[in-house]
Amino acid sequence: MGNDVTCNIVGIGSIQLQMFDDTTKLLIDVRHVPDLRKYLISLGALDTNGYKTVIRGGVTKIYKGILLVMKAKKVGNIFQLEGRTGSVHVSMVSEHDSSSIRLWHRRLGHMSERGLKILADRKLLPNLTSGKLDFCKHCLYGKQSKQKFKAGKHTSKGILDYIHSDVWGLAPTILYGGSSYLLSFLDDFSRKVWVYMLKRKSDVFSVFKQFRALVENNTGRTIKCLRTDNGGEFTSKEFENYCKDAGIERHKTTVYTQQNGVAERMNRTLLERARSMLSNANLQKELWTEAVATTCYVINRSPSIAIGCMIPQEVSKGHPCDYSKLRVFGCDAYALVPKHQRTKLDLKSKRYIFVGYGDGTKGFRLWDPTTRKIIINRDVKFDESSLVQLDVDNKLKRDDVSDFQHIQFDSTSNDSHDDHSSDSSHEQVSESYYEQGSD
Ligand SMILES: [Zn+2]
Repeated sequence: MGNDVTCNIVGIGSIQLQMFDDTTKLLIDVRHVPDLRKYLISLGALDTNGYKTVIRGGVTKIYKGILLVMKAKKVGNIFQLEGRTGSVHVSMVSEHDSSSIRLWHRRLGHMSERGLKILADRKLLPNLTSGKLDFCKHCLYGKQSKQKFKAGKHTSKGILDYIHSDVWGLAPTILYGGSSYLLSFLDDFSRKVWVYMLKRKSDVFSVFKQFRALVENNTGRTIKCLRTDNGGEFTSKEFENYCKDAGIERHKTTVYTQQNGVAERMNRTLLERARSMLSNANLQKELWTEAVATTCYVINRSPSIAIGCMIPQEVSKGHPCDYSKLRVFGCDAYALVPKHQRTKLDLKSKRYIFVGYGDGTKGFRLWDPTTRKIIINRDVKFDESSLVQLDVDNKLKRDDVSDFQHIQFDSTSNDSHDDHSSDSSHEQVSESYYEQGSD
């Protein structure tokens, strides 16, 4: 800026301008800078795009060829546009923007800079090469105090040879769908994780049977050993007999000694990351189950130290994952309203909140805050910009972006640019994030 202060660009998009002559013009590549009090149009950028500027007698006129397209009158020392803003479309933060690493940090459930670098080096994240991650307060909000976990030593040679499992609950709040417990399974060989939400702890046995059918069918392999603590939900007679009949060996640890380290650590990671995502999205705890399911989805696409930074889903499926569909949990999502559900005067799309990835379908899970229900839709446009901006206290609220009132001309060619201030505490916090599942 003129006084050498830098400002953060949090998004790039287009703005419709209603001109003095009632025509509408679209201004593209508009930088969204929350700290700026005035909205500026760069004469330099207009010049680059072939517009001619004539300033005379306190009036600036912008021409394309012989056509007058914009007019501004001098007020004090600046020229104020004769016109007003129409609807504003702040698009997703530009893929080439320096804040891209912030975007991927959030899309991948607050993954550490190291984890992001591994994926970026393999060119798995569209348009992200590398970068420095700035301070993220949501990582701090998610983190529990450090606990040491002991883990039993073993070596698994193939998928499903050794499954770790643990149950967490009772959740302190009523969750969407009425569940209160989290049950996770972790495959020791691939480090792939599955999560189930349970209403009762006694559902563990029946869910294990479903899990076994699913993974054995999908892989053509069989579960050889199941490691759990000796909580009652895992030790019922029927559970024991079932495993005996299926030839599944049982490894059990006492509940309070934390020998079930791998599974307990996984549950802790799921909880921490879900908390960070809910904090970032400013969503109610009610949507915690959605946050946990989405965390599980991204953990399976994150490098795991326990298997030499390979990616669980990749190890499990045998081919690289597609990251192009990942979006920031909790961002605004606009889904097309089917024709039969709207009248001629109704809007064609409706705003929802993105809360996850559909199971087995290519759709997205969207939360409708009005009906408090989740729908699945494939035809969705996302606006991730409001959740990717820097964590400043005076951050713009989601709806404030449509409140651009005055636009003025800026004759300087200085672009405001990103301030890469970093905070060492972030490194400490995120250090173990991509190490999920390590012993
Ligand atoms: Zn974060």
